Amino acid sequence: MPEAGPEVVAGPAILDTVREAARAAAPQEACGLLLGRHESGRVVLSACVPSQNIAAEPIRRFEVDPAVRLRVQRETRDGGEAMVGLYHSHPAGTAVPSATDRECLYEPGLVWLIAGRGPRWTIRAWLALRDDFRELPLMVADV
Ligand SMILES: [Zn+2]
Repeated sequence: MPEAGPEVVAGPAILDTVREAARAAAPQEACGLLLGRHESGRVVLSACVPSQNIAAEPIRRFEVDPAVRLRVQRETRDGGEAMVGLYHSHPAGTAVPSATDRECLYEPGLVWLIAGRGPRWTIRAWLALRDDFRELPLMVADV
């Protein structure tokens, strides 16, 4: 039996922000970082930090601006929050990791939120493993 992954808990405002970023960036991919904390058996997302997509081909790839990441690392250095993941959108696809996403798995342990195109931009949560992703249950709650 596969090990159960942690559940991801996100406030509704975070998911709305990710959807709005996805809508605004289309047909390019939107991207950004997720802040939060690890608790027993769950990852609580408390904020998201949008980034410009600096990938050379932003229509089918994403790359978070390293300056955004540095700033987040500096600002969370002595708080209870940390960067626990990232989000991006698939303006022409579903909320499932693509082959391109699999090529970018250089940081196992991060939570990826992916927004797939649809009437309301479906969002699904994935745990980055060493060479693949595992879907995590995504719960919406006030955090
Ligand atoms: Zn992707």
